[in-house]
Amino acid sequence: MSKTFIRLSKSIVGATEAEAVGRVLMEDGYLGMGKETQIFEREIGDFLGVPGEAVTSVNSGTAALHLAVQAVVEPGDEVLVQSLTFLSSFQSISATGAVPVPCEINLNNLTIDIEDARRRMTAKTRVIMPVHYASNPGDLDKIYDFAGSHRLRVIEDAAHAFGCTYRKKMVGSFGDIVCFSFDGIKNITSGEGGAIITGDEKVKNFVRDARLLGVQKDTEKRYQGERSWEFDVSHQGYRYHLSNVLAAIGRVQLKRFATEFKPRRIELSRRYRSALRNVSGIKLIEGEPGEIVPHIFPVRVLNGRRDLLREFLINKGIECGIHYKPNHLLSFYGAKKGMLPITEKLYDELMTLPLHPGLSDVEVDYVIENINEFFHKDSEQVVHSTGKSNTFASKPNEP
Ligand SMILES: *Cc1c(COP(=O)(O)O)cnc(C)c1O
Repeated sequence: MSKTFIRLSKSIVGATEAEAVGRVLMEDGYLGMGKETQIFEREIGDFLGVPGEAVTSVNSGTAALHLAVQAVVEPGDEVLVQSLTFLSSFQSISATGAVPVPCEINLNNLTIDIEDARRRMTAKTRVIMPVHYASNPGDLDKIYDFAGSHRLRVIEDAAHAFGCTYRKKMVGSFGDIVCFSFDGIKNITSGEGGAIITGDEKVKNFVRDARLLGVQKDTEKRYQGERSWEFDVSHQGYRYHLSNVLAAIGRVQLKRFATEFKPRRIELSRRYRSALRNVSGIKLIEGEPGEIVPHIFPVRVLNGRRDLLREFLINKGIECGIHYKPNHLLSFYGAKKGMLPITEKLYDELMTLPLHPGLSDVEVDYVIENINEFFHKDSEQVVHSTGKSNTFASKPNEP
């Protein structure tokens, strides 16, 4: 029998993406940002239901967040953000000279706790950055109400949430500033890439120039295959534009999303949810797949068993992750252990199971079977070693 290895996540690309890249290479050999990039932006706009000009593509989700924050803060300004997020959310803030203020999460869906955020507001607070953790936008209406009443900008870190809807509206089709990531393992990929979606003209013009070293209105020239020789620059910029080559991959992925990736991610996460719902050592995170197109599948492992279960599964060839190490625990952000008790408790419990559209039903069932086996074995062992039933081990699985 071949040794099982089930990957946590995976880029799902193939012949169609390769053909598209080949076409860009062979057509005119223009690999930089040009027509293909513009078409990708328009197609994202069509998909979301916004004008193509509202979409600014960049070469990573981190770049998208960085430019979005840069567009609306001054150094020293504060940004409210949940600590339980990818390092990128924090780094994109600190890169601008603004200060990320780590906030607690709601225990049910692991999105930002507004009441906690409210307590951390100061005269310097300018932005709230909700993170759509595990593709769940949380209570966005409440976040926008909160932001509106305190005159805060909202930058949605929607890196997990491409293709998700909130109250039947596409994430990215409404709101203030929304950032997506198209890195290799996200809901769609362009190899590396990202996008900023906004209806705010000022922010839009800023990020469009800032992705090209701040050169004013360089974007329109590049779409025509031209360059700016005579130009002016009024602010710091970066080399963050998306190349034609990567845009070509993104265009194919966008077409595959509705028919392949979305239904498969939803189906697999439903399969996990219905099987794990009654495993008493596991707690699911709220958020029914459907409106949510899950990018990752984290669960809570109760009673201090997370590391044991994770090791058990890894030994069975099942790769498991931990999303994420809370940022307030990092030296660069103050290493403030004890500051966020809920987040820290969750960090000890969270474990992410494999999820990508290339997983088969058989593979997901294998993961589920092994989790069940662990908890059966686990409770037997504890009963055996103490001679009596224990208080923390899970009960055998209920139907
Ligand atoms: C992936 C991710 C990002 C950054 O995207 P990159 O394209 O990898 O730079 C930001 N925030 C979250 C929550 C992410 O998962």
